[in-house]
Amino acid sequence: MAVLVLEAKGIKKRFGGVVALSDGNLRCYQGRITGLLGANGSGKSTISKIITGVYSADEGEIIYNGKSVKYRNPSEARKDGISMVFQNLSLVPDLTVWQNIVLGAEQKNGIFLDNIHAKELSKKILSQLLPDLDINKKISELNPGEMQIVEIAKAISEDPKLLILDEPTAALEQAQVKSLFISMKSLAQKGVAMIFTSHRLWEVMEICDDVTIFRNGENVANIDFAEDERDPERIVSYITGETQK
Ligand code: ADP
Ligand code: MG
Repeated sequence: MAVLVLEAKGIKKRFGGVVALSDGNLRCYQGRITGLLGANGSGKSTISKIITGVYSADEGEIIYNGKSVKYRNPSEARKDGISMVFQNLSLVPDLTVWQNIVLGAEQKNGIFLDNIHAKELSKKILSQLLPDLDINKKISELNPGEMQIVEIAKAISEDPKLLILDEPTAALEQAQVKSLFISMKSLAQKGVAMIFTSHRLWEVMEICDDVTIFRNGENVANIDFAEDERDPERIVSYITGETQK
């Protein structure tokens, strides 16, 4: 049996008159990659941001490792082992690749590494993701795909137990996506739970162990590929709400 790491139950969230979530539910498990699917505006980023304390929920509960949690900001979530790669990048453009990567670990632990160890750590994390990247380059010199990889490396440096990746592949080239998937698989093998959001269904079909589908702020389906076949048409019908003929 898979070990439940996090459960979000009955999450509701409004932004003024907009109902972003009416019934947000999500579960993720140790060593498993959960795909979070849904059309634009269906509430995927909102539930992820509620989990990590960017927003607070109007109603509902988040249970992490069996305890009810309510983080006030992402730094609190990070200290508890939940890291998130946001759709908008958070890198410091004037710092180098290695300085940005270790910033994650340093912020989490409150301990500053000396330059030699910091460079070693960032090289080690990048060795799977993008081994050829020059860690002494400034972020402002990188292309969008490289920046995204550094953002992911920064989250990995925080040594999370749950890693939320909100559309991490949008800016990536095909080869970079492959490297990311290899890294995600090895994190899963170490027991890290992951939530993976992508617009590209084939990516989700390839990498995820189960999927959670949102439509109009509501969790409409959960499919575990250990039990159900990987049927893209069925998933699309849940996303759009249109039944197949
Ligand atoms: P997704 O990530 O699935 O594309 P979001 O969670 O970003 O969807 O958005 C869900 C809904 O909530 C959308 O209608 C969006 O416009 C709205 N929304 C999200 N964040 C905010 C915000 N900070 N202020 C106002 N409306 C928001
Ligand atoms: Mg989003």
